[in-house]
Amino acid sequence: MRYEAPKTIREAAGLLAKAKGSAFVLAGGSDLLVRLKGGMIEPELLVDVKRIPSMQTVTKSAAGFRIGAAVPCAALGENVALKKAWPGVVEAANLIGSDQIQSRCTIVGNLCNASPAADSVPAMVAAGAKAAIVGPKGRRTVAVEDVVTGPGKTSLKKGEVIEAITLAKPAPKSGDAYLRFTPRTEMDIAVVSAGICLTLGAKGVIKKARVALGAVGPTVLLVPAAAKAIVGTKLDDAALAKLAAACEAACKPIDDKRGTIEFRTEVAGVLARRAALIAYQRARGE
Ligand SMILES: Cc1cc2nc3c(=O)[nH]c(=O)nc-3n(C[C@H](O)[C@H](O)[C@H](O)COP(=O)(O)OP(=O)(O)OC[C@H]3O[C@@H](n4cnc5c(N)ncnc54)[C@H](O)[C@@H]3O)c2cc1C
Repeated sequence: MRYEAPKTIREAAGLLAKAKGSAFVLAGGSDLLVRLKGGMIEPELLVDVKRIPSMQTVTKSAAGFRIGAAVPCAALGENVALKKAWPGVVEAANLIGSDQIQSRCTIVGNLCNASPAADSVPAMVAAGAKAAIVGPKGRRTVAVEDVVTGPGKTSLKKGEVIEAITLAKPAPKSGDAYLRFTPRTEMDIAVVSAGICLTLGAKGVIKKARVALGAVGPTVLLVPAAAKAIVGTKLDDAALAKLAAACEAACKPIDDKRGTIEFRTEVAGVLARRAALIAYQRARGE
């Protein structure tokens, strides 16, 4: 196995594009090294992206935030401006693993590992985050919800590397939130999760919303019907009931020892309601 630690993303993409056998980007390694040690993968090449300066920083501009793909999740929680603008995304990223994992893991690794239960993904999808990709054919930008195509599968082509995640500057009176259900409080994988972002218009009426659910389908689900259920409302009980019903209707979960189909479906509605209330309070500046 060959290990490379290039200093530019072009070099990283070139190495991956030229690899003859299986090749992987190595970010924090908290998923990849587990698979490697477990004998699930035998890469010919590992391309460590943690030494690429353009992937190591979080920058704020008039347009919003650019989070380098090698930035560890712990650093997101320490970024006051990012936390203020996108509290739901940061909370979701900071739920991943323990302090040790936080100091290594990245939101892009979380996304590209392509688990339906990945914590940061529903929050990023709700926030309308985009992935900036560099590959042999140049650059492209893709909505986060279009990166994962199935469990363990992404739409990234050979040689493509995600350089950063971008988050727009939140519209005035916006708020986001993420909640997950796990049997343990820490170090567990979401049995169900919900991310919500909403924007208020006049008099506290919701004018825009995005609702995403995790661990209830083969990929994180963006649920437009759930967003529609709360747009035009002040999130009264009737709107919350419709939101929960729309979320339940969208669920296509598996049945396993961690949660039955019935349990996951019901909890998706409960979490969506609770996350919506938190996002609404945040949008009101409370
Ligand atoms: C003890 C423990 C606890 C955990 N707890 C949680 C948890 O609570 N919630 C949760 O969601 N996950 C959890 N995880 C899983 C893991 O920590 C996360 O998915 C993490 O975010 C992965 O990030 P990473 O940078 O370590 O990815 P890596 O392991 O480096 O990479 C993961 C995958 O993404 C690909 N990749 C990484 N970066 C890029 C890039 N820039 N471009 C293209 N492909 C890329 C890699 O090739 C690999 O296939 C846990 C893992 C462990 C070991």
